[in-house]
Amino acid sequence: MSANILVVEDEPAIQELIAANLQHAGHNVLRAYDAEDAIRIVRETLPDVVLLDWMLPGMPGIQLARRLRSDERTRDLPIIMLTARSEEHDKVAGLEAGADDYLTKPFSPRELLARIKAVLRRRAPQMTEDAIEIEGLRLDPVTHRIFGNGKPLDLGPTEFRLLHFFMTHAERVHSRTQLLDQVWGDHVFVEERTVDVHIRRLRSSLELSGHDWLIQTVRGSGYRFSALAE
Ligand code: CA
Repeated sequence: MSANILVVEDEPAIQELIAANLQHAGHNVLRAYDAEDAIRIVRETLPDVVLLDWMLPGMPGIQLARRLRSDERTRDLPIIMLTARSEEHDKVAGLEAGADDYLTKPFSPRELLARIKAVLRRRAPQMTEDAIEIEGLRLDPVTHRIFGNGKPLDLGPTEFRLLHFFMTHAERVHSRTQLLDQVWGDHVFVEERTVDVHIRRLRSSLELSGHDWLIQTVRGSGYRFSALAE
């Protein structure tokens, strides 16, 4: 599992240590040294997880967590708070501000990676490597293979990621902007029409086993993966 992780930490030595551990585990690291930095980065690229230090110069981490939770685009972004404090009331405040988890410094790299994995499993199941099967359509992230009623289907890398996101977020309507954010990781530099092109390719690949009906167009809103009739 490889995720885009935004590390918001003002102390360079700690920032460096965390980044090195994450990169070693195969993750891609985005770095911010304060909340304003973080906001600018998130505006361009939606990360998969945010590691957020509590004590930052300027806007405190807890306020940034609240801000991310109040914006529709970043509402579901997994947030893990990092802090030197260990008092119980601070943990409660962090969780109330919308953090998914809480790590007290110093923490072991192993614990950090385990918490990231747990948060992703809960909030971003498309990031995990669990195989998923719906209506005879089976997707296996480990082998990168897709079977429709046992028949292997041939999908391009973008169509694979798109289908993985759909299958782990079934029955919900996703706008083109949301799909760009979640599947491409970018809603600023890619045109919305790109989504339609890849949806078309995905449907045509799924036609072989008759699963193309699972990708539904929701007029005026976007797309939905659904096993229920339209
Ligand atoms: Ca700090």
